[in-house]
Amino acid sequence: MSQLRHDWRINLAISLIATVISGFFIDRTLRHLLGPTSSAKASAAQDAVRRFRARKPDVDLDHLNEHELLIMTEVIAPEDINVTFEDIGGLEAIISDLRESVLYPLTMPSFFTQNSPLLQAPTGVLLYGPPGCGKTMLAKALASESSATFINVKISSILDKWFGESNKIVAGIFSLAQKLQPSIIFIDEIDSFLRERSKSDHEVMSMLKAEFMTLWDGLTTEGRIMVLGATNRPNDIDSAFLRRMPKRFSIKLPDTEQRKRILKLMLNGTELEPNFEFDAVIAKTAGLSGSDIKEACRNAAMVPAREYFRDNYVDGKPKANNVDTNIKMRPLRTSDFFTDSHTANGWDSRRRQSVEESLD
Ligand code: ADP
Repeated sequence: MSQLRHDWRINLAISLIATVISGFFIDRTLRHLLGPTSSAKASAAQDAVRRFRARKPDVDLDHLNEHELLIMTEVIAPEDINVTFEDIGGLEAIISDLRESVLYPLTMPSFFTQNSPLLQAPTGVLLYGPPGCGKTMLAKALASESSATFINVKISSILDKWFGESNKIVAGIFSLAQKLQPSIIFIDEIDSFLRERSKSDHEVMSMLKAEFMTLWDGLTTEGRIMVLGATNRPNDIDSAFLRRMPKRFSIKLPDTEQRKRILKLMLNGTELEPNFEFDAVIAKTAGLSGSDIKEACRNAAMVPAREYFRDNYVDGKPKANNVDTNIKMRPLRTSDFFTDSHTANGWDSRRRQSVEESLD
């Protein structure tokens, strides 16, 4: 018995020492790569490794190279993603298609390939449409529902900061995705990176694109790694890259029915007056994106809040000593969506029809 206890203590001591040593080496490697001024980034990467390790203790993170470590700061474990399909309004048809053609093949690759070689998981998927309509939400929900690691790649920051090193970083993205699979490599504004190749491309940029394509082509269908791109300019993407994203989903500005669903989602949990006129608000938000509608709801919710504070507070202090903080604000009224503040804040005049038309 005492021998057992002894062994247990030795094991604990060994694993503690191993963690400290691996932390030391990760830190040293990062400081070497980032230089003395970037200790904040080094500790961010360390934190990211620690966070991921807490979620997935079985994944070996002790042997990441310096470039993979840098990318770790952009990695989100599926358990840490706070978006699910339920949080997305009005995109039910797209979600159902994504489930069947992307989610299931990603989570059950062998089931699909066993039944027919035609049913391979796509290694590239494109979400396109105007900004603020839920593309990033869909990508995150896909990762959380498929328990895939989400690697949020910001190509522009890679190019800005790591121009000389960018080829290695791109290689690092794919090798890290391999180690943390199933993984979704999410590239927002993919057009800014994979746009039509031209003669004026810098040599480094051309090499980078070629490297990216080679690594992308190397993803086997058995693997559980997917490149998920989002863009509002699908026409700017190089056709060679587009071919690698055979599954494409158009996420348009929400129509009347979709706006109704988005509004209901956003107003869930906010008390509404009994005769709240959804239809009037839905009509008022025509041409707006999901994120604009969220802004409109926030602005509207501020109207009763502002009233409450104006009535009961002056210069941040209660007007009377007996202000009861349990008194609730009045319910939200339809008219709160029609005040001047909406026009002043700009969302009212934001009509995205032209963007939508240019995408059709
Ligand atoms: P995109 O990636 O298309 O630019 P996002 O997915 O980042 O847009 O959406 C921005 C924000 O707008 C989200 O965080 C969410 O609050 C809101 N939003 C956009 N579309 C929807 C939607 N369909 N349902 C619910 N919320 C949405």
